[in-house]
Amino acid sequence: ACLDEIRERDEALGAFLSIDEAEALAAARETDRKRAAGEPLGSLAGVPIAIKDNINITGRKTTCASKILEAFVSPYDASVIAKLREADAILIGKTNMDEFAMGSSTEFSGLQKTRNPVDPERVPGGSSGGSTAAVGADLVPLALGSSTGGSIRQPAAFCGVTGLKPTYGRVSRFGLVAYGSSLDQIGPIARDVDGVARLFQVIAGHCERDSTSARVATADVLADLETPPAGLKVGLPVEFSSGDVQPEIKAAMAKLVARLEEAGAEIVEVSLPHTEYAIPAYYLLATAEASSNLARFDGVRYTHRTADAANLRDMYVRSRSEGFGIEVKRRILLGTYCLSSGYYEGYYLNAQRVRTKIIEDYRAAFAKVDVLLAPTTPTTAFPFGDRTDDPMSMYLSDIFTVTANLAGIPAMSLPYGADGDGLPIGLQLMGNHFQEAHLLRTARLVE
Ligand code: GLN
Repeated sequence: ACLDEIRERDEALGAFLSIDEAEALAAARETDRKRAAGEPLGSLAGVPIAIKDNINITGRKTTCASKILEAFVSPYDASVIAKLREADAILIGKTNMDEFAMGSSTEFSGLQKTRNPVDPERVPGGSSGGSTAAVGADLVPLALGSSTGGSIRQPAAFCGVTGLKPTYGRVSRFGLVAYGSSLDQIGPIARDVDGVARLFQVIAGHCERDSTSARVATADVLADLETPPAGLKVGLPVEFSSGDVQPEIKAAMAKLVARLEEAGAEIVEVSLPHTEYAIPAYYLLATAEASSNLARFDGVRYTHRTADAANLRDMYVRSRSEGFGIEVKRRILLGTYCLSSGYYEGYYLNAQRVRTKIIEDYRAAFAKVDVLLAPTTPTTAFPFGDRTDDPMSMYLSDIFTVTANLAGIPAMSLPYGADGDGLPIGLQLMGNHFQEAHLLRTARLVE
């Protein structure tokens, strides 16, 4: 049924870069066989799942929506994919994204356009826009995205779906193409909190192949999902409500606050004073790490190599110039610049100091409250072309999401009503490190 829906409706939507029909059907038949034979079934048996195209699956393309990797076929499974196979999930296809996950609208995909499932003239958000559009359009019930600065929550908000960025180190990054390694996390996208919790339960856990994977026991997030947290204290960061937030998003916030109070929660104002430095710090650190991570795409290994080059150096230059898109080039240049001698102390080191200040802000806030509530985005989904010529305005789409990545804390976006044009509004809940179970219970209480 999912394959039929995708065939019928994805040409207009553009969520998928590739579909794996034969393998998906084989996996579905295998589930049927196991069920008939009375063999034990995994927790996601028979459930089709879409995978962002920066996560490796054996024998399938991993393009990162980049021309430089257009023909790259992965020789191995990411750890999350191995876990999904164990859970008997059906890997149905790979989804579009901003090239190498750099962007907030999926418009920087080097391969294809993805539309917002609610309004085809608007962006789905990004960078996991293909995954959130696929779930938002009901083509699949579950999807995986990745977040470096907001790429799960922001497109989830724009597409009216639920998404979670787990605690840094909670989900293995082995097999995820690296963008900003100290920020990247894979996370679940679904129609509701229950779906997100079920998928999180499968992909979370320590992994020997990821040196930053945390050795923390994974709590059973499903066990108490329906139990409302007792004595809940919710913090409202003042810095997230000041400034330009669309009035309908402010109204949705007020509604959710009232709902929480009704459920017995205590609402407290808190301050995260270094929030104003988050965007500059994030874009220095993320680009610095990206410039180093993307050095491996050199025309020698992987796919794209220029047709004619005068010498080795020329081959590197031409292959990269031809293969990378404009936003990726901008970031490599910015990252290389801020890591270069003479600038490193002023830019990179200062950004690291700001990051520490932001971590301390959150530590102080979580000494007072259990969860923090904020909008996911300052506006609802914007029209195509609105921000592509002005990088700063695009970067500001992430203003409410990047701090959770800098601090490494878990954060999720919940759909909460719509604006006057019917465009979905997303609100954000943030929790302390490794408190996903608590975060999901709180989200379940108010969804
Ligand atoms: N929009 C942010 C960026 O371009 C976040 C992307 C992401 O989380 N992958 O860096």
